[in-house]
Amino acid sequence: MKLVQTRAKKDENLKKVELTQALLSPSSKYGGLYAPKKFPCISQELWSELADLKYEKFALEILKLFKFDIKKDILKKALKRYRSFDDPKNPVELKKIDKNIYVNELYHGPTRAFKDMALAPFGEVLSSLAKQKDEKYLIMCATSGDTGPATLNTFANTENIKVVCIYPADGTSEVQRLQMVCMKGENLKVIGIKGDFDDAQNTLKTLLADDGFKAELKRESLNLSAANSVNFGRIMFQIIYHAYTYAKLLKDKVIDENQSIDIIVPSGNFGNALGAYYAKKMGAKIGKIKIASNKNKILTEFFNTGKYDLRDKKLAKTISPAMDILISSNIERLLFDKFGAVRTRELMKDLSKNKFYKLKKSELAKLQEDFVADFCTDKECEKFIKKWVKKGYAIDPHTATCFKMIDDKSINIVTSTAHWVKFAPSMLKACDMQSKDEKQGLKKLAKKLDQEIPKSIKKLFNAKNLHPDIVEKDSVKDEILSWIKQ
Ligand SMILES: *Cc1c(COP(=O)(O)O)cnc(C)c1O
Repeated sequence: MKLVQTRAKKDENLKKVELTQALLSPSSKYGGLYAPKKFPCISQELWSELADLKYEKFALEILKLFKFDIKKDILKKALKRYRSFDDPKNPVELKKIDKNIYVNELYHGPTRAFKDMALAPFGEVLSSLAKQKDEKYLIMCATSGDTGPATLNTFANTENIKVVCIYPADGTSEVQRLQMVCMKGENLKVIGIKGDFDDAQNTLKTLLADDGFKAELKRESLNLSAANSVNFGRIMFQIIYHAYTYAKLLKDKVIDENQSIDIIVPSGNFGNALGAYYAKKMGAKIGKIKIASNKNKILTEFFNTGKYDLRDKKLAKTISPAMDILISSNIERLLFDKFGAVRTRELMKDLSKNKFYKLKKSELAKLQEDFVADFCTDKECEKFIKKWVKKGYAIDPHTATCFKMIDDKSINIVTSTAHWVKFAPSMLKACDMQSKDEKQGLKKLAKKLDQEIPKSIKKLFNAKNLHPDIVEKDSVKDEILSWIKQ
């Protein structure tokens, strides 16, 4: 199966590309992305066969249905990356925490955020493809704290790949910062910049568009690429865990084949929720996909009014920084799937020109068949955190945004995107607890929850800082070039 461009002119034939091409150069015509045009459908019989499989096998079967151009051996090897998760046989854990409330814990990977679910296998795939083509890539990422560690971890010491990760020096938790600066790997470079996440992201965007920079890289035989969630290679691994959870619930007879589940997703760039939507298209009986936001509630507004309105919006900082996003890139794939490439191009053009677009009533109705959306303020999130910690279950500030949308009458699957250890300062505040520093705070919380702090996190506090550089954003380019030429 091939992927097609998401933006097109009227009567234009959509260009089809193989997955390999879409992974190595993820931007398509008119500034768009690549997406599948059709999805393989899983019959009821197939669901029950798949339900018996362990995660790796299950994932391979799902990927095989797409008939992509990537060899089975590469996919198999990529999926083996899940063996570095807490439970090597089962990277995701579904926990029942109350009647009809299940939490899909997607954070049991090496860096403790759900980003590992996609980036771990994706790193292996990308490195294999680069090797196969005998090309070298510089992967760049800007991070507010979760993408950075996961990207560094997946590419550490892989062949044909170098990684540069830019983070805001004072913008992440101590655990997140240590996860990055202590990561070992000759092919990794971590740069802290004086500024916030927007500065980090803008620095990245400027470099990605800088022809002089690219030419310098070319001289070192390096192609430039990014590992952000517009890459379909990440989305494809995000379909799988939603499908897997559905299959397991069938197998465990929590639901029968006529019943559906609702999936609640803390959303930013909309990759995770899009994965759930694609799983639904493949035949998983998902009723509503519920989009949870924080105070940056552009998606709440979008799914409730059909307006995507960036005018006089300013990004607010919240206790769920991975969701502090106004331009949610994967919405484009939803628009494409529902309304086609011509309409998507029109809408995205409006957005870049007028910072605004508005769907027709009939279009909005089509979105609302699958989606509902709401948001939580930090205060509300803190209330949910405190309530659940009291009951002995920790939810991180991102996952907390989901709890307003629980519906007693459905089967609720709360998608949990990060381990609480990454956000100890916010967790402590929510629970009215104090500590002299983050390390002590972690210990206090772990004790209260009667949990062990994961070993990989504990050892960070004694690890060596391998990337002490903190620079002005204008020096990032020189910093990278001198590292590459070493
Ligand atoms: C990245 C991230 C999100 C947002 O996920 P999207 O796929 O971008 O919508 C939510 N929670 C956490 C903890 C994250 O790291």
